[in-house]
Amino acid sequence: DPALSDALARVKPSPTLAVTQKARELKAQGVDVISLGAGEPDFDTPDHVKEAAIEAIRRGETKYTAVDGIPELKQAIVRKFRRDNDLEFKTSQISVAPGGKAVIFNALLATLNLGDEVVIPAPYWVSYPDMALLCGAKPVIVETRAEDGFRLSPEALEAAITPRTRWLILNSPSNPTGAAYDARSLKALADALARHPQVMILSDDMYEHIVYDGFRFSTIAQVAPELYDRTLTVNGASKAYAMTGWRIGYAGGPEKLVKAMAKVMSQSTSNPCSISQWATLAALDGPHDFLAERNRAFRERRDMVVSMLNDAPGLSCATPEGAFYVYPSCAGAIGKTAPSGRRIKTDEDFAAALLEAEAVAVVFGAAFGLSPFFRISYAAAKDLLEEACRRIQRFCASLK
Ligand code: PLP
Repeated sequence: DPALSDALARVKPSPTLAVTQKARELKAQGVDVISLGAGEPDFDTPDHVKEAAIEAIRRGETKYTAVDGIPELKQAIVRKFRRDNDLEFKTSQISVAPGGKAVIFNALLATLNLGDEVVIPAPYWVSYPDMALLCGAKPVIVETRAEDGFRLSPEALEAAITPRTRWLILNSPSNPTGAAYDARSLKALADALARHPQVMILSDDMYEHIVYDGFRFSTIAQVAPELYDRTLTVNGASKAYAMTGWRIGYAGGPEKLVKAMAKVMSQSTSNPCSISQWATLAALDGPHDFLAERNRAFRERRDMVVSMLNDAPGLSCATPEGAFYVYPSCAGAIGKTAPSGRRIKTDEDFAAALLEAEAVAVVFGAAFGLSPFFRISYAAAKDLLEEACRRIQRFCASLK
């Protein structure tokens, strides 16, 4: 029986992956499950990206590369940040890693000491607190409110900052709420951060390209140049180009930090996949017109899901600015009883009872640090989503 580390004992396995796994198991047993748990676009990787990967294999780009990315890709990332975000970086300020997840983990591992604090607005992407814990740091969770569009206020931010605060993690558009910060709200946060020079900012922009209704994406280093020297701007190929399996994430930030992140990789993963790096170069430099088309499809689904959820008794759902998630409140279902006899005391009970009764898999809000809510990913076919929402309506109506 192998002994496990204390560091590992501090964290839990990813709850979103657990829900997807549970749904997969039920499906294998023959249950007609609709899984709305996964956080990946249901579109395919664009053809020109696949072709670039095949060409890279034929050319023999199949060996180790520079630890934190090939120069050609770093140059494409420099162009991307200039084009989309008005941010100027040298290639020595760019880090490429096996996924956005790895970029964030490398940054935290490279900077955090025992007892350091990381400010994380809730609801949050499930990995931020556990990554901080793995590094021996303390996640400081700041709850936001649905009434405030799930956005962190400058006052709440300042109340959470202490001399031990090393990082603020911002994620816009957000997983799990889809909420996004416009330039003005970012500027307000930046004004507060200007008073706390010990705090670095990690801006997780993974969903940058998935926004609706003319929303203009901004990132904090862009609207607050005074924070440029202490901001790590993180992005990746997974969500924008439907490339979750290729595992490429990247970031631009202070050279000293980027070097430290390369040191972490040099003793852990080594370089990200050589073929995926060439594919990502083609994605970044290639046409982006398919995004508008995909966003139109996402927006149609968002509008349908939001409207159908708001018609379910006990649920209330805001219309988010971006990503492909909604985060409805199930406050009106708490305290009720499902036909199976199961009492619904928490959003975890709600999700479990929904799966039992109607075979719809969603992720409960407690996993993201804000209850009573649940997350639906609408990166699924429209008829499937419609059927799922009908089942949710029926389930909510059945609660006594
Ligand atoms: N950041 C956010 C907010 C995410 O939702 C995800 C993926 O779910 C990631 C980062 C990591 O993405 P990847 O490691 O696939 O690049």
